[in-house]
Amino acid sequence: MTKYIFITGGVISSLGKGITSASIGKILESRGLKVTLMKLDPYINVDPGTMNPYQHGEVYVTDDGAETDLDLGHYERFTSARMTRFNNVTTGQVYNSVISKERHGDYLGKTIQVIPHITNEIKERIRKVASVSHAQIVIVEIGGTVGDIEGLPFLEAARQFELDIGKDNVLYIHLTLVPYIRCADEIKTKPTQHSVGTLREIGIQPDILVCRTEKSLSDEVKEKISLFCNVRKEAVIEAKDVNSIYQLPLVFKNQILDEIILSHFNLICKFSDLKTWEKNVVERALSPKYKVTIAFVGKYITLQDAYKSIHEALVHAGIENDACVDIKRVDSEDIEKGDPKKVLQGVNGVLVPGGFGYRGIEGKIKSIKFARENKIPFLGLCLGMQCAVIEFSRHICGMKEANSTEFKPKTKYPVISLLAEQRKIKDLGGTMRLGAYPCKIKKNTLAFNIYGKSFIKERHRHRYEFNNIYRKLLEKKGMVFSGIYPQKNLVEIVELKNHPYFIAVQFHPEFKSKPDNAHPLFREFVKAALKTEFS
Ligand code: GLN
Repeated sequence: MTKYIFITGGVISSLGKGITSASIGKILESRGLKVTLMKLDPYINVDPGTMNPYQHGEVYVTDDGAETDLDLGHYERFTSARMTRFNNVTTGQVYNSVISKERHGDYLGKTIQVIPHITNEIKERIRKVASVSHAQIVIVEIGGTVGDIEGLPFLEAARQFELDIGKDNVLYIHLTLVPYIRCADEIKTKPTQHSVGTLREIGIQPDILVCRTEKSLSDEVKEKISLFCNVRKEAVIEAKDVNSIYQLPLVFKNQILDEIILSHFNLICKFSDLKTWEKNVVERALSPKYKVTIAFVGKYITLQDAYKSIHEALVHAGIENDACVDIKRVDSEDIEKGDPKKVLQGVNGVLVPGGFGYRGIEGKIKSIKFARENKIPFLGLCLGMQCAVIEFSRHICGMKEANSTEFKPKTKYPVISLLAEQRKIKDLGGTMRLGAYPCKIKKNTLAFNIYGKSFIKERHRHRYEFNNIYRKLLEKKGMVFSGIYPQKNLVEIVELKNHPYFIAVQFHPEFKSKPDNAHPLFREFVKAALKTEFS
């Protein structure tokens, strides 16, 4: 029988519910259990694909081409569970499918209501993840904060689960904030009491509380929380701020959270520690020997969540190189106005991430030119590759007006353009080239050295492509097209010779990087950046 863990959040948002869920997945997986995770998002959008990164943060892309919540990235980074389009459910999807069933006449004349029709649809989607993943434990994170109107149907569905399959098969974990009031030098439990109170009004009694806190919780505080919230004292788990998110599974393990969960489910599992994780990930993350500075030239740089996976992939690359990667966030629009040297002088590497729209593009192109000419390691991702192509076409191939048709539809030299199949598309949601595609890598290239193999699969999220009309010309001038999607002859990787590290890819390698297995493009990028530091 599959066991279900529901994770809710209270008091405020941004407490790290996604990382908490992923860490719980990790400690259970370390006990030999097959785990999967899913996220229920109460917003009405069908998926986050059309949302502004400032609203939502990064859009995480799965192998099967779903545009999903960034928490799915945490799930894949912490555990070996593979995410699919079923692992992220939104209110938009739920209503969409209930309404189309109603139009189809599937409800046989009934009045369609939140309970039971919407809640049944939610439960069906949770059970679907259990059945396709064959997981023994399904961890279901409910987005938002308890008390939000939008979240109610999801919480109600979670409540019904216990009724449907019994207490032994369902566990509720609530993540709360226990604030420290500096001037009174006191830790306050009242917000937690209120938040649990609200959950209990809905009919959910949490079995475990995970308490985010700046200060350690004394026994007395734990006892108080336990008494007022009706949760056993050992199930009041302290989640004190950590220096690296990858410490969190250890923090939980030390408080035997895995044992508490297993005994609730009456499961007996092999004992295991997290020694390898501790040694290979945590210790190396916390005590780097070297330091490099990478300029991150983007548009949404004030919001770290907007490029979550790239940020983490750089952390992973740092871990494998025993280096602390200091990310210098550069607003591409600032570079547009002035001399790139002022901002980029002294950095050990330049990274240009993905993005949409013309704003900030000229600053990205200027940064790439600076990295190319000054032999600074450069990694371009998606839009970053398209900008590298534009830069090379303009400054090396003499096509001054080279551009992407995304920015200038009537450009004289459309070096980046739309395929005919994309030109027909009118809807914005879910219509890009999405998900995993194979790529063949040419021998004797930087890409081949990096990957060490001829066939790879990477995830995509873009509409525009390199325009093959210009391939011969650019090749003649020294650009190497080292990765190709064979079925459609599309350019996936470009690179330059006579440069310590200049490579740009049409896909998003950041989605497949793991803390204990950094993506090779990032690992080698940081390695090259380290060489500039010591040259
Ligand atoms: N805007 C570009 C395109 O649609 C790049 C997309 C991206 O960087 N994810 O092709």
